[in-house]
Amino acid sequence: MLIDLNEVIKNDGRVMQTDVMPEMKQFVSKMGAFPIVMQQPVSLEIRNMGDRKLQITGSTVLTVRIPCDRCLEDVDVTLELSFEKEADLNKSEAESQQTLENFVYVEGYSLDVDKLVYSELLVNWPSKVLCKEDCKGICSICGTNLNQNTCNCRKEETDLRMAKIQEIFNKYKEV
Ligand SMILES: [Zn+2]
Ligand SMILES: [Zn+2]
Repeated sequence: MLIDLNEVIKNDGRVMQTDVMPEMKQFVSKMGAFPIVMQQPVSLEIRNMGDRKLQITGSTVLTVRIPCDRCLEDVDVTLELSFEKEADLNKSEAESQQTLENFVYVEGYSLDVDKLVYSELLVNWPSKVLCKEDCKGICSICGTNLNQNTCNCRKEETDLRMAKIQEIFNKYKEV
């Protein structure tokens, strides 16, 4: 979704306020693709600070579906994003990309709201996602989700160890 910045760029001191609905349906990054299951409009304020500099303030709330770190079940994570940025239109796009990594959302005389939200998501991505604090995860041996079921893997492991100890014990007894 592009916002036309012509009016605000032409007039020093001009403030533009708008609510925009991003079109992004999923967040795709190196970590994978995550569906955006709820998105509120992004409320934006764009202020011409003079000297071809823009101040961009905004906020939004969205819910992203991310697998639990331990059991891989889907978790709907709601993220509140709020940001304040400055865009210097005197700089060329190449220059800006070098100095301000997230600047690419302003292209020429338009602002790409999806790119803006994307860069904010990258910065605010949760480092840890759990379906619940005490998620038991999945069994590393048979893959059973231990929140829903139990398995005998760990038990068998201990049984095996006990048998070995018993074996050694018996050997000593024989001597
Ligand atoms: Zn979990
Ligand atoms: Zn198991």
